[in-house]
Amino acid sequence: MNIHEYQAKQVLKGFGAPVASGVAITSASEAEAAAKQLPGPLYVVKSQIHAGGRGKGKFKELGAEAKGGVRLAKSVEEAVAHSKEMLGNTLVTAQTGDAGKQVNRLYIEDGADIARELYLSLLVDRSVGRVAFVVSTEGGMDIEAVAHDTPEKIITVAIDPQAGVTDADVAAITQAYDLEGVAVEDGKSLFPALYKAFTEKDMALLEVNPLIVMTDGHLRVLDAKCSFDGNALFRHDDMKALRDETEEDAKEIEASKWDLAYVALDGNIGCMVNGAGLAMATMDIIKLYGKEPANFCDVGGGANKEKVAAAFKIITADPAVQGILVNIFGGIMKCDVIAEGVVAAVKEVGLKVPLVVRLEGTNVELGKKILNESGLAITAADDLDDAAKKIVAAVG
Ligand code: GDP
Ligand code: MG
Repeated sequence: MNIHEYQAKQVLKGFGAPVASGVAITSASEAEAAAKQLPGPLYVVKSQIHAGGRGKGKFKELGAEAKGGVRLAKSVEEAVAHSKEMLGNTLVTAQTGDAGKQVNRLYIEDGADIARELYLSLLVDRSVGRVAFVVSTEGGMDIEAVAHDTPEKIITVAIDPQAGVTDADVAAITQAYDLEGVAVEDGKSLFPALYKAFTEKDMALLEVNPLIVMTDGHLRVLDAKCSFDGNALFRHDDMKALRDETEEDAKEIEASKWDLAYVALDGNIGCMVNGAGLAMATMDIIKLYGKEPANFCDVGGGANKEKVAAAFKIITADPAVQGILVNIFGGIMKCDVIAEGVVAAVKEVGLKVPLVVRLEGTNVELGKKILNESGLAITAADDLDDAAKKIVAAVG
């Protein structure tokens, strides 16, 4: 689950991280009062969407020469003018795709005078099995480009979970940034605070790009992207309350209500599977035969008929889907339950595209019988290879 920048800053502030004061607004009529609460004379008006690259983004409705999704203002009037221009319009950034995202919320912040822009993120580094800081002096820009062109400028500091952030870790980060003066002192509290926020709130990623050194020498978190591990959300009601469903794919929201793992992809074959490994194998074999998956929906181990039907409806709701492959290995999951769910869903929503079903495992004969006797145009497949060939041929 992702949250907005202004929410992430609120969370980090709670752990003692230095952030600017700011006010979130959802209508331009609130802009003046919001800006007047801030000290000035520099303000920043920031689009709140769940995507990065806002500064360099462009609004669809505005001309190419219009400013991006993060704008500086030198007066309250200018901040208000920016707010009026930005709210309600569609921001297209390198991360939103061509469709862009509608800006329904702005964060008006006290502007900082920037001396240096640094990069910092915290993530789970699976290669060492630890939470790690990823730091670079090349902040404020596309970190993927830095990683590609000048990988030596990215330094990783992995944290021993028992020791936490040690003085040596802080020194390593400080040295990587080449910090001096008060920034060194700020770092001593900031780096452990960010680690504490990350671990206590079960984050999956915390990215501060940029972390800035201000002209007065102090550090400040200027941008913050924070995503949480969905598997741990049950123990963080306070974070769950920050969810903004308007930013999420409607199908993914519906899937999460049913506790289904649904992932939207770019192709045109919808996949219903059980288990992540089988999902990957299914997608691989579709690609092997020359097509691309449109999505996959993992119904997991112990799904009932209603859950299977919900999964089927989510898959068919995607207009990109030109064919569906149901590939189930019934271990704990029983094939007849899958078959009943599929038949129920098809009867309810209809079947406008070819459907190939491959079932194997517990109650497979009963499952096949239910499908065969349903009177629906379902193509049965003998094995995964056969199933992939059939759906690829049917989609054409
Ligand atoms: P992003 O484009 O979505 O990553 O949004 P950021 O919050 O990172 O802002 C983009 C850029 O706007 C930053 O890299 C800064 O250069 C600039 N910016 C943001 N806030 C301020 C500020 O308070 N003062 C100044 N001078 N520039 C800012
Ligand atoms: Mg940024």
